This record gives sequence, structure tokens and C-alpha cells, in this order.
Amino acid sequence: MACNYTAGFGIGQDSVINLDHGDPTMFAPFWKEVGDDATVKISGWEKMSYTSSCDDDICWFLEPEFANEVARLHRIVNNAATDGRYIIVGVGSTQMIHATLHALASIELRHPVNVVSAAPYYSMYPGIVDLMKSGLYHWAGDAAAFRGDDNFIELVCSPNNPDGAIRHAMLGKEAGKRVHDMAYYWPQYSPMRGPADHDIMLFTLSKATGHAGTRLGWALVKNKEVAREMAKFITLNTIGVSKDSQVRAATILKVISDGYEFPKPNGAPQFFHFGQHKLADRWRRLRRAVQESGQFSLPRFSPEFCEFFKEYAETYPGFAWLRCEDQKINDCEDFFKRINVLTRSGKHFGVGQEYVRISMLDTDANFDVFIKRISSLD
Ligand code: PMP
Repeated sequence: MACNYTAGFGIGQDSVINLDHGDPTMFAPFWKEVGDDATVKISGWEKMSYTSSCDDDICWFLEPEFANEVARLHRIVNNAATDGRYIIVGVGSTQMIHATLHALASIELRHPVNVVSAAPYYSMYPGIVDLMKSGLYHWAGDAAAFRGDDNFIELVCSPNNPDGAIRHAMLGKEAGKRVHDMAYYWPQYSPMRGPADHDIMLFTLSKATGHAGTRLGWALVKNKEVAREMAKFITLNTIGVSKDSQVRAATILKVISDGYEFPKPNGAPQFFHFGQHKLADRWRRLRRAVQESGQFSLPRFSPEFCEFFKEYAETYPGFAWLRCEDQKINDCEDFFKRINVLTRSGKHFGVGQEYVRISMLDTDANFDVFIKRISSLD
């Protein structure tokens, strides 16, 4: 199938801008500037074995250099407690979600366990949960509307995809189980409020560094039995996780950490500063265009002290959760489709179609066209 838009080669007036997916290509200019320091070379004879050199008896496929760099970056950013936690690696945090549900539900006595998340929830959750039509668990919808007993797993996404809100578990802490999806708890998106300390925390390279194509996610897990069940799921699902990807991820994470621990004298860019700067500029332009159009609204956030930047910082979510305020527009996704901008309707997030989610993480070229199109609406 041919593409009718190509970033970097000029985007035509009628070309389609796809801001439906959260493809984090926005970060590419940083990695271009870093150059060879982030380049990975793996010889033909290396990393051939299924197993890693790690003597981790739980996650036997975890590459030690990757595990070390994960722990190091969390320590530098101070966004999640790692001491005494098991690190489990997966093919994106998507596989981690499957592994987590499997692990938590397997050790429950009553099945199927209800899986819930407060609306607006990440649009992939219902599909991921019900994909296997598992007898162990099933999707039970909006956590706010859940009326069942303690037989539940709540997916808590914080900062939340799609609306950027800081979320806390909605259902009682004494009952059920919680999984904290922390894909966006990084300084470019949100002020760091200190280390999160939940039982199960999921992270992904896709949103932390922009390397969605490397397909790597990880979980920090307190309970040994849960960690063991998660690793078992990955063993039976994919017999481990690509060593090549883990080596690449370790290199990428190391560049970011080195940038803060050993800053270069020439003032070389630092990753979270780069990301925050870029998102701040995009949000400023989007808010202005939205205000001038008078047809839409966006969530508002108050500045908070960021423990990482050591100053008050704004929230700049990876998605704009935009509401069409004009009564004449009853399908906001369709409205944007008519100006050749693909967005994702609120109906996929458990709310109405007056909302759309728009990626803020695409290329500069696509973002510029998007702003132009909004600005030229009558
Ligand atoms: N959780 C959330 C909240 C996400 O936004 C995403 C990516 N859109 C994922 C999980 C999955 O990420 P990955 O690319 O690591 O599978």
C-alpha cells in the first residue's frame, strides 16, 4: 500500500497526518545529535544463546547490562523504587501487561478475575485483556462503575493515557490487586513527585526514550511469586526477550544517564531537557491554536515542583485529550478526518465521541501541519 505522506519531503495540503498512534518519532533529532555514542554493534557470533549471562533464577533471559541501566536510570530520575524489586523484561510493556494479568490471575482462587480501569482508560486495555478469551480474567470496564467484590485487578495508568492526569487506584486498597502502568512517568511529560513505590510498576522504552521499535518494556515487581509467574508467561509465550534489543536498550539508557552523571563540557543536550523543551513548545502552540479557534478545549494542569529538574514544572502529556465544544460537531474524530488529521475517538477510551486523543509525539513536520490546519479553521 502506498503512503500519501512522507515526513521530511514536504507535506501536501491534502496529505493525511496520522496522529492516531503515539509513535514517539519526536525524539529522533536528539538521537541523531548523539550520533555514535548510541550506536550498537553486535557481531555475528554474539548473543546467540537463548539464555543470558545473568544468574537471575527468576528472569533467566534478562541481560545484566540492561538490568543495571534500568536500575541506574530510575535511581538518577528517582521516579520509582528499585531496591528489593525484581526486574522482569518483556516485548514492550504490552507483553508485560499480558504477563502481569496472567501472573496475578493465576494465583487467585476465583476465576475469571475482573480487570478494570478508570475511564478514560488506555484504549488498548480492553483488547489486551480479552484477546486470549482467557478463563482466568476478563475485561470488566470502567473502574468507577465496578460493583463487584474484591475479585478484581485495577489497571492504574499514571500519568494517564489519554488525558495526562495523575491517577491513584480508584478501588479500595484492602481488596483486589493493582497494576501501575507508568509508561509516562518521566520528566519530559510530568513533574517528578518522588519515587513511586507500588507492588507492580510497568515501564516502556517506547515512551521513556522514544525507541518504540526496539519493543522493550520492563516491570518492577515486589512479590517473588508474582515475578516468577510473569517470567513463566514470557518463557512460554516468546522463550525470553531479544538479547539484541536489550543490548540496544542498555546503550540508549546509558547515554541518557551519562548525560546527567557526566555532563559534557560543551553543553551537549540532555535527554529529558530536550524532551521537555520540545513538548513545552508544542503544547504552547497547540493551546494558542485551540484558544484562537474557540471550538475545542484541553485539560489544564497546575505547575508542580519537579524533584528531577529541581524547579516548578508544567505537565506536557504525550497526547492531547481534546474536546470538541461546538454543539454542531457530534463526532470529533470524524471532524478531524475531514481536515485529513487522523485522531482516536473518545469511544475507544470508554467515554463519548466528543473527545479525541491526538499524539503530541510525532515528527516536527507532521506537528507543524497539524497546527496549521487547526489554525486555519473558520
Ligand atoms: N501502556 C501505555 C499507557 C501506553 O501508552 C503504551 C503505548 N502506547 C503501552 C502501555 C504499550 O507500550 P509498548 O510500546 O511498550 O508495548
